[in-house]
Amino acid sequence: MQITALSDLADPARCPRLVVKVGSALLVDADGPRRAWIAALVSELAAARARGQDVIVVSSGAIALGARTLGLDKGGRGSLADAQAAAAVGQIALSGLWAELLAQHGLTAAQLLLTLDDLEDRRRYLNATATLSRLLDAGAVPVINENDSVATQEIRFGDNDRLAARVAQAARASAVLLLSDVDGLYDRNPADPAAERLAVVRGVTPAIHAMADGGSGSGLGSGGMTSKLQAAEIAELAGIALAIGNGAPEAPMARITQGGIGTLFLPRGKARARKAWLGGRLRLKGTLTVDPGAAQALLGGASLLAKGISGVAGEFARGDAVGIADTAGAVLAHGLVEYDADECRLLLGRHSNEHAALLGYAPRPAIVHRDQLVLR
Ligand code: GLU
Repeated sequence: MQITALSDLADPARCPRLVVKVGSALLVDADGPRRAWIAALVSELAAARARGQDVIVVSSGAIALGARTLGLDKGGRGSLADAQAAAAVGQIALSGLWAELLAQHGLTAAQLLLTLDDLEDRRRYLNATATLSRLLDAGAVPVINENDSVATQEIRFGDNDRLAARVAQAARASAVLLLSDVDGLYDRNPADPAAERLAVVRGVTPAIHAMADGGSGSGLGSGGMTSKLQAAEIAELAGIALAIGNGAPEAPMARITQGGIGTLFLPRGKARARKAWLGGRLRLKGTLTVDPGAAQALLGGASLLAKGISGVAGEFARGDAVGIADTAGAVLAHGLVEYDADECRLLLGRHSNEHAALLGYAPRPAIVHRDQLVLR
C-alpha cells in the first residue's frame, strides 16, 4: 500500500515505520532546550508507537545547544572547530533529554551518531541497517544525529534533512517527516502574500527546485529548503514518501497528518534496495561525461560503454561511485565504475574492440555495467 496523502503517515498499515526529523530551532532557543515542546512531541511519538508504528527520531540541536553552553557565537557555526566542540557538549544533554522524556512513556531511547561515510560505504551502511532493525525489533526508539564532532568538512552531511532520508533508506522506513519552521514548500518565497503551498509534489523537477530559495530561516540549523528537496530526491528514488511540515504549532504531527497542512513528496516506484542506496549517494569520486547518443542509450537502460564517454573528471578507483553527466553537466545517473580514472581516460571514445590492446589485458564489457547503474 503506497502513501498518497499526509494522513497516511499516521496509518500503521500504510506507514509501519516513520522517521521524524526535528530541526534545531524547534529544539533549542536562547534559554536552552525547549523541554515542554519536546515533551509534547514525544507524546505524539508515543501515540504513533501505540498505534503500531515504529518511530525513529533524527534530532538536530546539538550544535545550537552546545554553542549556548560554551558561549560560542554564530550558534557554534562560525568554524568547523566550533561546530565540532559545540556538538560534543550539546549532544550529551540532547540525548539525555530524549531518553528521559521517552522513558516517561515507557519507551527506551537508543542513540546513534552517524557520519556520511557510515552510510556511503556499502559494508558500513549494511551494519547501520542491521543495528537499526535490531533496535526496532527490540522496541527501542533510535535517536539519531550526525556525529558532528568527528565529521570533517568534506565528509559531512552538514544537515540532518539528507541524513534523515538516508536513515529512512537504511531502516527501510515508509516515510520521513521533516519538522521545520515552515508549513511546507511554497511556489515562491513564502514572504510573498501570493505564495501558495504545494500539497503534493510528484517528482522533484527543476521547476520544484526553482521554488526553493536556500538558506535556513531560523539561522540555527543548516537546512533550508534546498537540503529538504535533496532529501526528497533521495527518498523518492528509494520509494519512500517525505513530508515537510511546521513543528512550531501545538501537536504538530496531528496538524500535519489530520489537518493536512504540509507538503507531501510522493515516492516513485520502489527501486531495488541496492540501487536506491547507490542513487542516494551524496559523495561521488568523479564524473564521466557522455555524448548525446550514450545519454540516450543510458536512459533506455543500456550499460555505459567507453565509446560514448567524452570526458573523465576526478580520481577514482575501480568500484568507486561516479556520476554520469551529459555535456551540459546535468547528472543523469550514478554508477559503480569498472575501471580506475586513468584507465577510463585511456579508453574514452574508443571502440570495445580496441580495449584489449590499449589495456594489455582482457577488457570488461562496459565502463559502468547497467546492473551497477541507477538513473537520477
Ligand atoms: N547535526 C546538527 C546538530 O545537531 C544539525 C544539522 C542541521 O542543522 O540539520 O546541531
